[in-house]
Amino acid sequence: MAEQVTIVGAGIVGICTAIYLREKGLAVEVIDRAPPAEGASHGNAGVVSPWTCVPQSMPGLWRSVPRWLLDPEGPIALRWPHLPSFLPWALKFLRAGDAAGLPQIADAMKALNRPNIELYRQLLRGTGSEHLISDSFYVHIYRDPGQIDLKQLGWQLRLDRDVPLEVVDDGALHELEPALSPSYKAAVLIKAQARALSPGGVGKALAAKAQDMGAVFRQTGVNQIAPQEDGGWRLQTDDGEVVSDKVVIAAGAWSARLLAPLGFNLPLEAERGYHLILQEPGITINNSIMDTESKFVASSMLAGVRCAGTAEFAGLDAAPNYRRAEIFKSLAKRLFPDINTDDPIEWMGSRPSFPDSLPCIGTVPGQRDLFAAFGHSHYGFGMAPNTGRLTAALVAGEPIDVDLAPYRMERFK
Ligand SMILES: Cc1cc2nc3c(=O)[nH]c(=O)nc-3n(C[C@H](O)[C@H](O)[C@H](O)COP(=O)(O)OP(=O)(O)OC[C@H]3O[C@@H](n4cnc5c(N)ncnc54)[C@H](O)[C@@H]3O)c2cc1C
Repeated sequence: MAEQVTIVGAGIVGICTAIYLREKGLAVEVIDRAPPAEGASHGNAGVVSPWTCVPQSMPGLWRSVPRWLLDPEGPIALRWPHLPSFLPWALKFLRAGDAAGLPQIADAMKALNRPNIELYRQLLRGTGSEHLISDSFYVHIYRDPGQIDLKQLGWQLRLDRDVPLEVVDDGALHELEPALSPSYKAAVLIKAQARALSPGGVGKALAAKAQDMGAVFRQTGVNQIAPQEDGGWRLQTDDGEVVSDKVVIAAGAWSARLLAPLGFNLPLEAERGYHLILQEPGITINNSIMDTESKFVASSMLAGVRCAGTAEFAGLDAAPNYRRAEIFKSLAKRLFPDINTDDPIEWMGSRPSFPDSLPCIGTVPGQRDLFAAFGHSHYGFGMAPNTGRLTAALVAGEPIDVDLAPYRMERFK
């Protein structure tokens, strides 16, 4: 009989892993308390960049933090009761931005992202949803062209890794994006990217494919996982016990909570982000646009223009503060003066963020047949296909063609 693998989490990471495991003939069950692709994987900005290699923590970032925190429309927010749990993570985060370690982090980020467009296109082939991944530039817009400096560390990390960049002036920028306000005078384009026209739609199409391939999706909460004496794992769910030969933890921001009873104290923060969908925008955006001032992404999707971003630190269980999403109304107007912001849809989701912007992928130390596939921070939509491919190979005991050392859980000891 085929080995039974249970994946906890039907986000984009768990879904991609399920497809690759089924391709190898393993029996797969995916358990999630919610339907597939409803977590962070539903509401993200849809950027699929093979070139992502700049982590969140960068040298000197701390200088901007007080200003951002004090600005109610700023890109980060902290709920003060969360401060005691947040502080140790924040210190590790700032330490991870040490210049000496950045090249290794950048290489590890790029290794996971590099084949993502090709892998998404392979995964989506035959689903009828191939159109949901569209070619795109990533357009970083500036009001003051003088602020563009490709010698800055973030751009240098990219240039050192052959990322195709081009600086464009006012005319070329507005030719690319006619709806953009004339106040924006220049941009840096990251070329040869893609964007999702519905990130949740991609996840759901792939979940349906996994199901057609024989994966079973079960909707229930997992409360505990424990090893059995004679091998394999026992999962306590809201609907009784599940027994499995092998378990993959792909539970996004909730993953550390599941592993804590096994003795792991992982610095995984719920970095909550928001989006606002402007359903009848009256304008079209042709690419993913990054507002370099307010640090959010705007993109035309099937449901309308989605503005997504911001980081709120409030813990996993706090209720959403949709004022954080409302901010996007005025920000969207600043970028696109003709945009219609009536009747928006608000959303909040938790990025699973480690201080070094890298996920945990690999065997869970000291635990037989337990695997980690979580912690993809701001980049999990792009990193998911390769994470799934690598995790499935690991679970099946096959050779791995990417060095998994940078993603090992032991780095947090
Ligand atoms: C505003 C925003 C913008 C973003 N933009 C981008 C972008 O443009 N490009 C990009 O690459 N990434 C982006 N990201 C990041 C990306 O969305 C995430 O990294 C990615 O979706 C994580 O996927 P996941 O499968 O690990 O987690 P999730 O999608 O959160 O899935 C985890 C699943 O586990 C389930 N679960 C957890 N615990 C349990 C349990 N005990 N029992 C049962 N089920 C459980 C949850 O219900 C959930 O469905 C963005 C994120 C946000 C919030």
